[in-house]
Amino acid sequence: MMTQPYASPVLDVVRLGKYFSVGGGLRTQQLRALNDVSFSLAEREVIALVGESGSGKSTIARLIARLMPPSSGQIVFKGRDILKEEPTRASLAYRGQVQMIFQDPFGSLNPVHSIGYHLERPLLLHGKAANAAVLREKVHALLKTVDLNPAVEVANKYPHQLSGGQRQRVAIARALAVDPTVILADEPISMLDVSIRMGVLNLMERLKEERGISYLYITHDIASARYVADRTMVMYAGHIVEGAPSEELMQQPAHPYTKLLLSAVPDPSGSIRSELPARSGAPKLINPPPGCPFADRCPSVMNTCREQMPAAVDVGAGHWVRCHLYSPGSVAPSAHHERKVPASVEAVPA
Ligand code: SF4
Repeated sequence: MMTQPYASPVLDVVRLGKYFSVGGGLRTQQLRALNDVSFSLAEREVIALVGESGSGKSTIARLIARLMPPSSGQIVFKGRDILKEEPTRASLAYRGQVQMIFQDPFGSLNPVHSIGYHLERPLLLHGKAANAAVLREKVHALLKTVDLNPAVEVANKYPHQLSGGQRQRVAIARALAVDPTVILADEPISMLDVSIRMGVLNLMERLKEERGISYLYITHDIASARYVADRTMVMYAGHIVEGAPSEELMQQPAHPYTKLLLSAVPDPSGSIRSELPARSGAPKLINPPPGCPFADRCPSVMNTCREQMPAAVDVGAGHWVRCHLYSPGSVAPSAHHERKVPASVEAVPA
């Protein structure tokens, strides 16, 4: 699944932030859903964003899809700062290039319209079909691409006549209708039966190879990230706390939260990968205290953790982490990371 190298970024997210006002009047407070998130997505690359509900994963996708405006930061697509562009034709072109697949394949399809209608809409909106015959042909080709056969029959069906996996394939076909460069896949398999999840992931992988698509794959399931993603980034309380090539991250997790996530993955051998306690407690997103957002749950918490937000530290092999255990001067807690020389980095590496 791993492909290297990634020379040309198609999407750069730079210090993206999203804050919401909650309450009202004198009691107005700020909910910090996303804080200074930066990363680059390269051509044909799959990046997984992993974390619990409320960690900010879906917010990133919605900001990139321009479903809501960010509070700060930049979104640079193929060298263009798209937030500076007016919501006109240029914006329509961007939306065609950056498509989103949602978690609920039934909710994202209108039950009163046929499958064919769902695929015709984006083709017509983006001027991809000159006449009715071409339109029909393209609809059938899209259905065949996502292995929904016989295409003529499927096009005449309605969403309720398809299974969850088939509906998600329709959602993928709809995204493909406008020849996207980037697909933002927000929990695309979490509502599907376990037995058909692999088929959808394999389809995404095939489309990446055939069409040169890059994916931002959002999931709470770190095990599927390993299968599908070239790189994995872990989110907690609106911060990306660790990032690495997926295999490196699974084998040598550095951040205590990543270890906690991995400890929850069932292991066929029955062994436990981490002995961290899975303590409960939601992070504070409204007026968060200074320091590391994971401090209240972390078994390795130190005084400095409650005072200072850890900077991103490069631990080698394309792997970085935001944790004071790895700050210059600290003793790295594993042999693997000890052999690397920690170096502070200014911004989260791409
Ligand atoms: Fe734990 Fe401190 Fe590292 Fe945060 S910075 S994860 S509290 S050790």
